[in-house]
Amino acid sequence: MDPQIVQSIVEEVVLRLKRAGQTTPGIPIGVSARHAHVSIEHLETLFGAGYELTQKSDLFQPGQFAANETVLIVGPKGSIENVRILGPVRGATQVEISRTDAMKLGYQPPLRESGDVQGSSPVTIVGPKGSLYLTEGLIIAQRHIHMSPQDAKMYGFKQGEDVLVQIAGPRSIVYDNVRIRVSERYKLEMHMDTDEANAAWLATGDTGIILHPSDSKWMRQTTELDEQLAEPARRNRGYQENVQLIEQKLLTQRDIQELDASTITVSKHTIITPLARDTAKDKGITILFKQS
Ligand SMILES: [Zn+2]
Repeated sequence: MDPQIVQSIVEEVVLRLKRAGQTTPGIPIGVSARHAHVSIEHLETLFGAGYELTQKSDLFQPGQFAANETVLIVGPKGSIENVRILGPVRGATQVEISRTDAMKLGYQPPLRESGDVQGSSPVTIVGPKGSLYLTEGLIIAQRHIHMSPQDAKMYGFKQGEDVLVQIAGPRSIVYDNVRIRVSERYKLEMHMDTDEANAAWLATGDTGIILHPSDSKWMRQTTELDEQLAEPARRNRGYQENVQLIEQKLLTQRDIQELDASTITVSKHTIITPLARDTAKDKGITILFKQS
């Protein structure tokens, strides 16, 4: 691209970001490390009958706290210790991790809003008194902004709306798809996970700026164009890097659903169920057979 065009685009972006900064609020950032929410029943399975969470520290959102209790979470490829439980107890157990954590465990959990766990990844949770295997409940949390109805009205945002948030600094980033969540129980705060925070060199207590809707529209158009340009390169790279060697005897649909690979190599003795084959086809996964 012509350097002058690049320069003018950069100037335009800077101008728009500055303007956005004058018209929309600064948002305190809360970085969410991996954590678990547990039901009463599961708390008792993990810590013993009649057990109650003990409070380590208050979280910024009213009534929420970090508990002293931690658990071990386990996946097919590895485990992660000292995963903190956040209280109070909830109706359903749920574990929120980063994508980096997911790779360590060997799962590909979906990006979800907290509480929306249907069809998410399985996970094993181990506590001092027992363990449990959940068929679903492992998610990567959708970044979001907690906001009171008063703030939402004042700044002109709606429950469920997605906004862009600009983070300044040497690793400046604009985050798109930041979900607005409005409740009387909420205080103004953006939540993101550790991968997202690390990408922008952020820590809890830093602030971001919600871009004005007109700037968001302009930036999304630019992003769409970037996406189109980036797509072939991404597909190429994925094809080369995402090759997995599968050694197990039986490949099921579930195995294929969990895969994050464009090509897998399996033994010629591996049995692949018809559903697994169909799913591989749907996901565009190529299956190669190792000859030895
Ligand atoms: Zn949150």
